[in-house]
Formats: sequence, C-alpha cells, structure tokens
Amino acid sequence: LALHRGKERSPGEYRLYRPSTVHLPAHEMIALERDLHRALNEDGLRLMLQPIVTADSQPNARVTLAGVEALVRIEHPERGVLSPDTFIPVAEASGLILPLGAWVMEQGLAWLADATRQGLDTQTIAFNVSAREIHAGGLVERLADGLERHDLAAQRIILEVTENVMLERDSVVRETFDALRALGCKLAIDDFGTGFSSLSYLQHLPFDIVKIDRCFVGEVHTAPRQAALVAAMIEMGHALGLSVTVEGIELHEQASRCLASGADHLQGYYFCRPLPAAEALARFITL
Ligand code: C2E
Ligand code: CA
Ligand code: CA
Ligand code: CA
Repeated sequence: LALHRGKERSPGEYRLYRPSTVHLPAHEMIALERDLHRALNEDGLRLMLQPIVTADSQPNARVTLAGVEALVRIEHPERGVLSPDTFIPVAEASGLILPLGAWVMEQGLAWLADATRQGLDTQTIAFNVSAREIHAGGLVERLADGLERHDLAAQRIILEVTENVMLERDSVVRETFDALRALGCKLAIDDFGTGFSSLSYLQHLPFDIVKIDRCFVGEVHTAPRQAALVAAMIEMGHALGLSVTVEGIELHEQASRCLASGADHLQGYYFCRPLPAAEALARFITL
C-alpha cells in the first residue's frame, strides 16, 4: 500500500490558496478564528449528517438510504449555531481546518461504526476535504488509522473535494488521490459546475462520483434549459463511468426530473435536512 507521506514538503514552503475570506473585515476574521479555537478546545463542534438516497424513477418509488454526508457546525455560546459557510474559509486560512477536519472524520467514523453495530443499513459516509488538508499531508494515514480503530472498510468512505482543488497542477493532489484510491476509498467532485477549473481534470484524475451543485436544480422541473443542462451533466458523468448525485433537491418534482434524467443518487431537504449525529440513527432507520 503506497501511502502518501505528508512530511516531504519543507516547513517554509507555502502554497497558494484562494480562501473566500477576503470579503470579511479583519476583526470578524479574528473573532471567527477565536470562536473556532474555542469550539475545538471546549466541545463546541457539532456533527450533522444528511442522507444521500437512491430511488428508481417509477412514481412513488421507495427511497432507500445510500449513505450520509458529514457536515460540521459550531455551537456558539452566545451567537447560536454558526454555519460552515462562514467559518470554513476562516478555518482554511488559519490552518485550523486541520484539527477541524480530523475531528469531523473521527466523529463520523465513530458514528458509522456505531450505526453499523446497531443494524443501520447505511453504506457510506462522505467527508468534505479542503485543498489545505490535502496539501498539508497526513490525510491518508489519519484515515487509514481511523478505519482500523473503528474496524470499518475503506470502501464505505467517500471524500468530497471541490473543483478548486484541481486548480493547481500539483503532484500532491494526484498522489493523495491515488493513495486514497489504493486504500479503497471513493472520490467525489463536489459542487460540480461551480468552480474555476476547466473540465480537463476529468481526463486524468480518478473520480468515482460527481455531485451536481444545487444551483442547477432550482428550476430543473420548470425550466427546459436547466433540465437540459442537468441531463447533459448526468450523461457526461455516466459516459466517464462516474456515479452521479444531484444535490439540493427540495421538491418532489425536482427529484422526479433528476431521476428521469438518470441521476444515481439524490440529496436535499426534500428527503431530509442535516440532522445532529445523535438523532440521525433513529431517524434514518425509519427513512
Ligand atoms: P457542501 O459540501 O456542498 O454541502 C451541502 C450543503 O448544502 C450543506 O450546507 C447542506 O446543509 C446544504 N443542503 C443540503 N440539502 C439542501 C437543500 O435541499 N437546499 C439547500 N438550500 N441546501 C441544502 P452546510 O451544512 O451549511 O455546509 C456548507 C458547506 O460547508 C458545505 O457545502 C461544505 O463545502 C462546507 N463544509 C461543511 N462541513 C465541512 C467539513 O467538515 N469540512 C470541510 N472542509 N467543509 C465542510
Ligand atoms: Ca459536500
Ligand atoms: Ca456540494
Ligand atoms: Ca457547497
């Protein structure tokens, strides 16, 4: 097993990122970073899980749970629940994404092991991985270690990366992907169609799954052009041997349209909102 060794990069070496924090005033970034520190140290992170489902395109077909996606929140003592859209960019810029990602992965693996012991028939768990985590190294080793401790098969793990990870033609990305594949994990392209990358990475990077972003889905049941675009993306995914998930399904009609166009998996509020990990098991058993 050729695991990627993370410590090869010299300590002074930096990579270019484009964290989307530039629009935040400095004092807000500092406050968020402080919140993040506190959440990490004082049990302030919450793991949420959202189901990813399958169904055939018959009307009223039974929906089955294919897997879950892990989504993190901060529970702030005064400000309530903070959304990852606010603090993930700060976590990436500050490097706190590394302990945060490690926390999410550990909690997610523990949940999956527990759910499996309790008889929940869920196949997979998907983790969001940011570019910074890949470039920092150690991701593959950490995952392999977690899988072993929780006695889970790597085939049940999906790692989701956005197209922006592919912006840099960097061998670290390729090596990490290869090592994850060698371990047995699956790789997903997240938010497909929204990044800055060209499609050229599809020729040589070993993806298994493409997740069509929810911005393509809002009017898929009423706007023929949007429907055509989604159908074409699904077809392209299949032509490349990928499984296709459509995100952001909020309505029955959106679900039927995407299924009729061949989507393999669906995810969205229509089926279930992200739930706290502690509640998820009971709910998913009856899904
Ligand atoms: P994402 O990976 O694209 O995750 C899907 C987002 O869409 C989640 O937002 C989910 O709650 C939301 N969503 C699901 N179904 C629907 C729907 O039907 N309608 C609408 N409008 N939204 C829906 P969330 O949980 O706020 O997460 C936002 C983003 O933060 C994620 O987008 C992901 O990029 C990032 N993120 C979340 N957790 C982690 C994490 O542990 N690590 C990293 N690196 N990023 C994370
Ligand atoms: Ca995701
Ligand atoms: Ca997404
Ligand atoms: Ca997103």
